[in-house]
Amino acid sequence: MEKKLQGPDGRLCRRCRKAIVLPAFSTGRCTICGEGIVSSHTPCDKVCMDCARERKLCAHCGRPLG
Ligand SMILES: [Zn+2]
Ligand SMILES: [Zn+2]
Repeated sequence: MEKKLQGPDGRLCRRCRKAIVLPAFSTGRCTICGEGIVSSHTPCDKVCMDCARERKLCAHCGRPLG
């Protein structure tokens, strides 16, 4: 049975899920729509939640989720 990750990290690619170890707030800007982003980890996400979900991208690095 496949288990789906809950929470914000569920929309990140495997690599980023491992890479993000610093729980600190950071702010940035979506590289697609330019909207401000607040992430609960450092470094900040590259894509906002809406764009990541719509385009099925990793919110953190902006790469397509496989
Ligand atoms: Zn966006
Ligand atoms: Zn990623």
